[in-house]
Amino acid sequence: MPAVSFEFFPPKTDEQRAQLDRTVAALKAYQPDYVSVTFGAGGSTLSYTAETARHLHEQHGLPAAPHLSCVGGNRAELAALLDDYRAAGYRRIVALRGDLPSGMATPGDFRYAAELVRFIREHSGDHFHIEVAAYPETHPQADNALRDLQHFKAKVDAGADGAITQYFFNADAYFRFVDDVQRLGVNVPIVPGIMPITNYSQLQRFSDMCGAEIPRWITQRMRAHGDDADAVRKLGTEVVTTLCRRLLDGGAPGLHFYTLNRAKATEAVLKQLA
Ligand code: FAD
Repeated sequence: MPAVSFEFFPPKTDEQRAQLDRTVAALKAYQPDYVSVTFGAGGSTLSYTAETARHLHEQHGLPAAPHLSCVGGNRAELAALLDDYRAAGYRRIVALRGDLPSGMATPGDFRYAAELVRFIREHSGDHFHIEVAAYPETHPQADNALRDLQHFKAKVDAGADGAITQYFFNADAYFRFVDDVQRLGVNVPIVPGIMPITNYSQLQRFSDMCGAEIPRWITQRMRAHGDDADAVRKLGTEVVTTLCRRLLDGGAPGLHFYTLNRAKATEAVLKQLA
C-alpha cells in the first residue's frame, strides 16, 4: 500500500461532524501518514480548523496537519496559532497563501506563501514539517509557467520540506513538473493531490475555480453516462485508480487524497490499489 494522507475540511454542523467521524473511522484502516485540515479564507473559520485538528488528533489518534494561510491573520495571530499547534503536539503544517474572498482587501502581513514559510521557520524553528502547494498545470494567477516554477522554488528555499499538488488528471503534467523543479535544484518530495471523482458537475465546478484541467476524453465519457450515478462513480474509480498507478509506478512518493469528508470514493480507489 502506498504512503497516503487524507485532507478534510472543518465541519460546521452536527450532521457534518457525524459524517466526518464516519469517514475518518473508515479511512483510518489505510493508516495515513497524517490527516490535514483545510483553512477557509477569512478569520472566522480559524477556530474551526484548530477544533477539527484537535478532534482528529485526540479522538481519532491521527497525526493532524492544520493548513495555515497568509489570509489567516497578522504576524501576532499566526504566531499564537503556531504556538497552540506546537503545544497540541502537531508536527506538520500545510502553509498556503489562501484565496481572498471577493471584496476583501486586507491580505494580512504576508502576500505570498513563501513569506509565510519563512515566518514559520523564524518563529518555530525546525519543529514543524512544512508542506506547500504545487501546481503541475501552473497556478491560474501565475504570469507564466517558468515564473510559477521559480515561485515554487522560493517556497522550498524559504524552508518547506515537501509539497502537495493541486489535483490533475494528466500524469505527464506531474512528471514534467517534478523534472522541471529538480532541474532548478528542488529535491523535496512532491506528493500528488488526488481528487476522486464521484459527481461530474461538482468536479467541473471545482476545476473551474482552481484551474485544474479535465481532459476532454474524461468529460466526453462522463457525459455519456448522463445521470447514471453508479456508472459515473465506476468510471471515476477506474480513471483515478489508473492515474494513481501511473504516478506510483513513475516514482511519486505517496498520494494525498482530497476526500471532501467522504470515504467511499477514496476507499474505492485504495481498494483497487491494494
Ligand atoms: P503562492 O505560492 O504564494 O502562489 C500564489 C501565486 O502567486 C502563484 O501564481 C505564484 O506564481 C505567484 N507568486 C508567488 N510568489 C510571487 C512573487 N514573489 N511575485 C509575484 N508572484 C508570485 N486555500 C485555502 O484558502 N485554504 C486551504 O486550506 C487550502 N489548502 C490547499 C491545499 C493544497 C494541497 C493546495 C494545492 C491548495 C490549497 N489551497 C487552499 C488553495 C491555495 O490557497 C490557492 O491555490 C492560492 O491561490 C495559492 O496558494 P499558494 O500557497 O500556492 O500561493
